[in-house]
Amino acid sequence: MSQGIITASYVGATILFILALGGLSNQETSRRGNIFGIAGMVIALIVTIAGVTSNIEILIGGLVIGASIGLILAKRVQMTEMPELVAILHSLVGLAAVLVGFANFMDPARLEHYAGVELTIHDIETYLGILIGAITFSGSIIAFGKLSGKIGGNPMLLPARHWLNLGLLIASIWYCIQFVEQSAAGNGMSPLLVMTGIALLFGIHMVMAIGGADMPVVVSMLNSYSGWAASATGFMLNNDLLIVTGALVGSSGAILSYIMCKAMNRKFLAVIAGGFGTTTGGSSSGSDAEQGEVIALEAPEVASLLTESKEVMIIPGYGMAVAQAQHIVCEITKTLKSKKINVRFGIHPVAGRMPGHMNVLLAEAKVPYDIVYEMDEINDDFPNIDVSIVIGANDIVNPSALTDPNSPIAGMPVLECWKGKTTIVLKRGMATGYAGVQNPLFFEENTRMLFGDAKSSLDAVFKNL
Ligand code: NDP
Repeated sequence: MSQGIITASYVGATILFILALGGLSNQETSRRGNIFGIAGMVIALIVTIAGVTSNIEILIGGLVIGASIGLILAKRVQMTEMPELVAILHSLVGLAAVLVGFANFMDPARLEHYAGVELTIHDIETYLGILIGAITFSGSIIAFGKLSGKIGGNPMLLPARHWLNLGLLIASIWYCIQFVEQSAAGNGMSPLLVMTGIALLFGIHMVMAIGGADMPVVVSMLNSYSGWAASATGFMLNNDLLIVTGALVGSSGAILSYIMCKAMNRKFLAVIAGGFGTTTGGSSSGSDAEQGEVIALEAPEVASLLTESKEVMIIPGYGMAVAQAQHIVCEITKTLKSKKINVRFGIHPVAGRMPGHMNVLLAEAKVPYDIVYEMDEINDDFPNIDVSIVIGANDIVNPSALTDPNSPIAGMPVLECWKGKTTIVLKRGMATGYAGVQNPLFFEENTRMLFGDAKSSLDAVFKNL
């Protein structure tokens, strides 16, 4: 394939990726954004495959194995397992960057192609690619463990952890200098291997130190790292498309991390330094007995409360995803709207287990976009709401985030549903949410509980409507 066609295809694919990101920023255009992304990726794959001149059978073999695994995973994965899947896929990007880095370094032609300053620059690219890749790899595996519940959500805080991180950073810089010096003489494998070990440890330590409630930032941060790792791989391979695509993923992930930090009222560096999410024994984590009694309702009572109201706010959380209750939520919404009741959805930025989790579920159930509001848009409206239905949400409606400075989620803005006339909380029992903190909302005077699986409970409410 001629260089001209390759360059034109790369520019086309890059434009399609940018259009994809633009499309994905809005629910109404997200389908179109997805199609742009798929088209860009198809072009990128075709051009890359067509450019390969040797070992084509290995490439085809790799493609068949990779595509089959991807297809099986995509077909089998449950909606509730998506965050874990995303985390484990990030780890693969990191691993690919590490492997490409080592392969690149071991290529005998390396010293023929590069010399002097060019060699130094290439070596630094290789070093950075492996460094970021290894951090992304091990960090994403720990994130996968935390999101799937295989590793506890509490932060692991080693003594002098900041000094440890600083030590690892200084060691990485020192080994980089060693690597660049030795590489010109055809050596350098030892500092590269030691740095890889350090980076793997750093990734583990960084994510282990982050508390449950701050995991959204970690997910988006690892997303960003995987982009930078891909970009570094692009530099190593002299592949412009990979550099640009990696930079797009890296920068959009960084912007998402910033948005997540803002949504949780956290400082990015403080999250990375770890420690949030530790239960400090504040009042919000007290036992149920200290908090008072809860008032439970049955489905027919919930149905009549809903039909008697004029303004209803639905607040979905992780439990709606677990119960797969989005379709029945949509049916209830239609029924209430047909009774001239104004129904809106209030979405917290960190509801569920991945950014945009609730929007994806509601879109899947075909809930109209124009009644789905972000937290900032509707939080002031709660005093006018007759009934708020909290469906499997917990941390995102926890008042102690605003009132208890000792709470692990202190400072995080929440949906202030308790300011409305009545709040109905649907959950199976009195279990805490992801941050592991008890919720005083359940014990408020104007809160009613509807216990049970959210889908079964809503099915029963629907029948009564
Ligand atoms: P939470 O995890 O706080 O609460 C979910 C609640 O749903 C639980 O208390 C559980 O109670 C209930 N539940 C579970 N299954 C069902 C079911 N089948 N039917 C009814 N209820 C059910 O979720 P939120 O959405 O409120 O908050 C999200 C949390 O996750 C935040 O702490 C956030 O920081 C964190 N997080 C968010 C990420 C993101 O990117 N959005 C990523 C990683 C973490 P019970 O067992 O009693 O039913």
